[in-house]
Amino acid sequence: MYFDRDTLLSLLAYARDMHPREIFLVIRGRRFKDGILVEDFLLPTSTILGEGFAVFNPYTIPIDFKIIGTVHSHPSGVLKPSIDDYNHMYGFIMVIIAYPYASISDVAVFDAKGEPLKFEVI
Ligand SMILES: [Zn+2]
Repeated sequence: MYFDRDTLLSLLAYARDMHPREIFLVIRGRRFKDGILVEDFLLPTSTILGEGFAVFNPYTIPIDFKIIGTVHSHPSGVLKPSIDDYNHMYGFIMVIIAYPYASISDVAVFDAKGEPLKFEVI
């Protein structure tokens, strides 16, 4: 599992800008034999950003085969999926970025079963 460095840095900056509101985005990338590469992200048009919640309707995501999962922020600083997160898995991976959104140590990636995935920034 790999993360494009610029993409990761942009996500951290965006989460910082929006704090204390939660961000919710879909991520795009490529799947290949030994993993997944996250290349970029986009904002689903119907996403409502608010304090402590982000509402998202998967049916409004454009049909795009490069979409591999979602990313959202935890302004609380907790770097673990909530029960709600497990119930709203979409795609292959779920990325969580937690306050203070300062570095790679504020980022965690989980697979569709909610298991943590190791990742590298390239
Ligand atoms: Zn969450």
